[in-house]
Amino acid sequence: MSDKNLKDYDLNDISKLFYDSVGSVIIVDPSIDTYRAMVRRGIFETILDETGSYHDLIMKLWFHFGDTNEEVVEDYQVFASFSGDFNGKYSRRLKVGTDNEDKPHLAQLTVYPFEDDSKYIFILDELDDKESIEESLTTKKINTIQNSYLFSMYIDLAQDTTSSINITEISEDTVNVQLKYSEWRMMIVNMFLPEDQEQFLRRTDPEYLKKNFTPGRTSSYDCMMRNMEGKFIWVKLIFSRAQTYNDDDYRFVFMVQDIHDNSMEILSALKKYEEMAITDPLTGVFNHGEIETQFNNALSMKHKNGDPVSVMMLDLDHFKEVNDTYGHSVGDTTLKTFADIAKELAISEKALVGRWGGEEFVIICQDKGADNANVLARRLKQRVEDHEFPTIGHITCSIGVTEIKSDDTFEEAFNRIDKAMYESKNNGRNMITVL
Ligand code: GH3
Ligand code: MG
Ligand code: MG
Repeated sequence: MSDKNLKDYDLNDISKLFYDSVGSVIIVDPSIDTYRAMVRRGIFETILDETGSYHDLIMKLWFHFGDTNEEVVEDYQVFASFSGDFNGKYSRRLKVGTDNEDKPHLAQLTVYPFEDDSKYIFILDELDDKESIEESLTTKKINTIQNSYLFSMYIDLAQDTTSSINITEISEDTVNVQLKYSEWRMMIVNMFLPEDQEQFLRRTDPEYLKKNFTPGRTSSYDCMMRNMEGKFIWVKLIFSRAQTYNDDDYRFVFMVQDIHDNSMEILSALKKYEEMAITDPLTGVFNHGEIETQFNNALSMKHKNGDPVSVMMLDLDHFKEVNDTYGHSVGDTTLKTFADIAKELAISEKALVGRWGGEEFVIICQDKGADNANVLARRLKQRVEDHEFPTIGHITCSIGVTEIKSDDTFEEAFNRIDKAMYESKNNGRNMITVL
């Protein structure tokens, strides 16, 4: 311990102490896009170069404060280009992550502008209080909320201004920016999936917002937006109009929430339910409802473009005997095996297979006239005949085929395949009839 009295210290001592302990001192000149780090110590030595572009420095500080060389995707640079102008002194805390560590460091950034000059001094210092970092960073609930909001901003439609962008991926603090709302919309629109851009412009249109949001009203919608690495993720865009009694007061809060993981889970569940709704659980081919829909789709496509399309009905021969001899469960296995054979062949032929009911199946043969559908029917009949079914050995099927005509109704086309199939039965089974 020094026995110096307080009154014995002068400014040089203080400067020396400051110089010996501060993390980094950087002088920047935005007008020529240059910075120079006069002190680099500790984590700042790895993170910062001695000199470089001011723009890059700002990007690093705001977006990727780490020692990665990752670039911020172009579209996000709309936030960087104007967050580097400081009006007066400014200070904020930053989370500083480095590649090889899990836990971020906490740093303080203070900006001092030069009087009457466009230059600034940045003072960066790592804060020692690890515990407060843990407290602020590991509180799970807060973290989840913070991490899920990519950024937020205030909008004033009456003034056409935006302010206080908060990019929580980097920091809880806000950055004061001055950007016209009308310009901001046009800058940010490129960050959305091209298919979502028109909707974004429509829903962020000032007139739309004024018309559709009564004071205090909040509304949101989901779409896909690029994250900082340039990957498209699902986000929720939330608009909320301030509560006000003045009809001409159009202040809004706009937030972007990262809902990607949750959305992907929902989408995969939806896909599963959609599959379940159209699939026959025993055989895995389309169920009755779905193959009937496809039958009707084939009719309406035929009416519309006239391209050839045929349908066939297949019925297993003497199937009742399978059940009677081997039991219902062997009957089920037989149906499943039959459906597998039909499906395998159909996939390569752009044909759709469905179970009409019991041991009857319908196949829609897209792009096939009666002749080609007959060829497919013959291959299928042969495969079934040749196949060694589990337990029962061999079984055959009877098939009815018809080409859909331009003026067919569903009943007309269906009656023809039904009749054709019964003709195959009546003529001795394991046969094909084309009507
Ligand atoms: P045909 O050659 O004239 O078609 O004779 P078939 O015995 O195949 O025809 P029938 O209509 O007399 O019998 C169909 C049988 O299919 C009766 C029914 O028990 C059986 N069946 C219907 N659905 C199922 C099912 O899901 N599982 C099983 N195991 N059998 C079924
Ligand atoms: Mg049968
Ligand atoms: Mg039958």
